[in-house]
Amino acid sequence: MKAEFIVEIKKSLESKKAKLEVELKGFAARDPHASTNFNTNFPDYGTKEDENAAEVAQFSDNLSLEKTLEHTLEDVIKALERISKNTYGKCKYCGEEIDERRLKARPESSACVKCKEGYLHKA
Ligand SMILES: [Zn+2]
Repeated sequence: MKAEFIVEIKKSLESKKAKLEVELKGFAARDPHASTNFNTNFPDYGTKEDENAAEVAQFSDNLSLEKTLEHTLEDVIKALERISKNTYGKCKYCGEEIDERRLKARPESSACVKCKEGYLHKA
């Protein structure tokens, strides 16, 4: 894997990480003990019954969004760690290099298409 390619990927991972954190901070508070753990704030629209119902609905939407964003954030951070350990771009299952087009589209990928598909078929 070329050094310029890694530099480019690192930039895109870092901007992705920053964007995810901004998005998460929009509705959740970061756990001071774990940088990738956020806790969704309970919204406060008012005390009327419909307002309470809206709060609960919004909270549950935010919770699932929180899970999705946190999961991506963890993947992004792991990818950055692989870059610093010089193991970036290798499939975690078969050890082959992951296709650069795949890495460009989804820089946090840790498995090649073949293994990912094989995994999905088994699951
Ligand atoms: Zn593989």
